[in-house]
Amino acid sequence: MARRYRYPFNGKRFIGNKNSMEVHDLDNETKNCQIDEIKDEHVVTFIPDTLEEAHKQGFDNGAYCIGNSRR
Ligand SMILES: [Zn+2]
Repeated sequence: MARRYRYPFNGKRFIGNKNSMEVHDLDNETKNCQIDEIKDEHVVTFIPDTLEEAHKQGFDNGAYCIGNSRR
């Protein structure tokens, strides 16, 4: 489990799930993240590829790879 280089992941570290509005850190991915269950159309990436940018866009931390959910 690690970064994915295919579209729509494009090798990014932080991946948002538009459906759950959670962000995942693929460099710290766990099987509980269930990244492969996220539909491609729900995957979003960030520019810049940072947790701060994900927070700015309203995403909450994934409980397993990041923790400290803000909800
Ligand atoms: Zn995660």
